[in-house]
Formats: sequence, structure tokens, C-alpha cells
Amino acid sequence: MAKVFAITNQKGGVGKTTTSVNLAASLAATKRRVLMIDIDPQGNATMGAGVDKNLQQHTVYDVLAGDVSMAEAIVYSPEGQFSVLAANSDLTAAEVQLLDVDNRERRLEEAISTVADTFDYILIDCPPSLNMLTVNALTACDGVIIPMQCEYYALEGLSSLKETIDTVQSALNPRLKIEGILRTMYDPRMSLTGEVSAQLTQHFPLQLYHTCIPRNVRLAEAPSFGVPILAYDKASKGALAYLALAGELIKRCEPERYNKKSQKKPAVAPE
Ligand code: ADP
Ligand code: MG
Repeated sequence: MAKVFAITNQKGGVGKTTTSVNLAASLAATKRRVLMIDIDPQGNATMGAGVDKNLQQHTVYDVLAGDVSMAEAIVYSPEGQFSVLAANSDLTAAEVQLLDVDNRERRLEEAISTVADTFDYILIDCPPSLNMLTVNALTACDGVIIPMQCEYYALEGLSSLKETIDTVQSALNPRLKIEGILRTMYDPRMSLTGEVSAQLTQHFPLQLYHTCIPRNVRLAEAPSFGVPILAYDKASKGALAYLALAGELIKRCEPERYNKKSQKKPAVAPE
């Protein structure tokens, strides 16, 4: 059964889409079966995975509208080695149409349940706003991954996001939690970075990822070639950071695998 995570933050430009694409590719590189769902009408995650948002026969819009099944709409990113449910500007209409349908908050959850057995991880790239699409993502997931920059207003944004999560948790999705908080575009030379990091460690000791994603120009360049960083410059700092993040996430999500490993007998038996 897939673990489903929404990559979310109501602020734009914090690295949600970069994280969705590159975490998906990094998890796929460790042989996990991954689906990335784009629910931002801008379709940046779709394009970043090398899937042309304007050439798709079906997108997440058709799935939410109930016109096609998940299985029919999912495509594959050869560059990323993961599956993609694409989005484009059609999805703007869904925001409005969804206000009028039964079970409007659970459309995505229902769709995901039809394919959850065929993936290990499902990542949902959210738009930078709290609309009906984001509510669908929060209702469908096991937890949220929050990318954030270590800026002055970041903590304020985080507490309002926390309130939203609490509201959705009590009204729609009891299993919803903060899976992880990810520091992005990280620059340790800035003094504010250290202060914000210290506060995050204090308030979210279990959720804050040890891995920080550095500011790295290769990460910003890769989308213009329609490839994840691993297919663009796999030795870059950005690529290594997203691989480390995938490792940290797997360690948290699959503890049985790690425990089994540590119980293994030594290769050479003692006398
Ligand atoms: P969001 O989805 O939250 O709006 P994006 O992932 O699209 O944010 O990132 C915003 C911009 O910053 C994009 O141009 C992206 O290429 C760039 N960017 C994201 N992460 C990094 C990073 N670690 N280093 C350098 N540039 C980055
Ligand atoms: Mg985005």
C-alpha cells in the first residue's frame, strides 16, 4: 500500500515543485515505485518530469471530473523513472466545478485508492493556495511534507499551515500529520538561517529533516531541460541532497527494513 504525501506550503516559490520532482526521481532511483500527482494548474511539476502538459490526452482534471480512471490517465516519465498524473490549465476549471459536486473533498482520495496497491510512494505537488484542490490533497494523504526557506516570515506561515492541517485532520482526515519539514535553498552563511533552524529544531524536533537542500543553480536549470536533477547533473550538490532526503524518508517510513538490516548476522561468524 503506497504512502501518500502532499508537498505543500501556501507560499509560492519555496521549492514545492522542485522537491516533488526530485524526491520522486530519487525514490525511484532506490527502486521504489513512485507516482507524482500534479495538482497545480501551472503544470510545472509535469513539465519538470519531462511530460508535456499540453500534449496529454488525459490529466488529473479528467480524473477529478470522473471522466477517466486513474489507470487510464497515468503516464510515465522516462527521464525520472516514475509515473505521473499530469496537470495543465484545464485544472483551473476543476477548482470551481468541484464546489458543486458530492463528496467534493474526497475525489482525489477515491481516485488514489484505485492505484495505491501498485505504488510504494505517491507524492502530490500542491498549488500555493488553500483551495479545493489542496483540500483534496490533504484529505487524500498520510502526511504533508513542507518545504520552506529559512526566512523571517517562514515560521508565521508555518503556524497558519499547521492550523489548516489541524482543521482538515479533525473534519476530514484523522491520519493527517506533518510528515516532515524540509529546509530548501539553504544557505548556512546567512545568520537568519541559523536562527530559524534553531526554532524549527525546538518546535518540530521529530519532523524536521536533517537533510537540507542547498541553494544550487543546477536545480534551477534542470526544469528547462524537462529532466530531474539526477538526469541532468547527478554529481551536483542538489542531486546529492535530494538522494539524501529520499534515504531519510525511507528510513522513517520503512523502519522494518532498517531493523532487519541491523539484525543481520556478521558476514564472518565469530569462532
Ligand atoms: P514552488 O513550487 O514552491 O512555487 P519551485 O520549486 O517552483 O517552488 O521553486 C521556485 C524557483 O526556485 C524555481 O525557479 C526553482 O527552479 C528554484 N529553486 C527551487 N529550489 C532551488 C534550490 N535548492 N536552489 C536553487 N534554486 C531553486
Ligand atoms: Mg510549484
